Amino acid sequence: MAFFDLRCRDCQKEFTEMVSFSKLSEVKCPDCGSTNHERVYKANIKGPISSGSGGGYAPPSRGFT
Ligand SMILES: [Zn+2]
Repeated sequence: MAFFDLRCRDCQKEFTEMVSFSKLSEVKCPDCGSTNHERVYKANIKGPISSGSGGGYAPPSRGFT
C-alpha cells in the first residue's frame, strides 16, 4: 500500500488515495466516481531542506570542473 496523489480527468478533482499500485486503476474519484484519473507528482519529499544550520544552501561537492 502506498499513497498516490491523483487528479480526476473528468472533474479535475485532486485527491490522495492509499492503495496498492496494482489497484490504482480501480480507484474512483471521490467527487464523480470516475476511474479516469492520472497521477500527480508533488515535490513534497521530506528531506534535508531545512534552512537551519549551515547558513543556507550548500551545493553538493562533486567537482564539476
Ligand atoms: Zn472526478
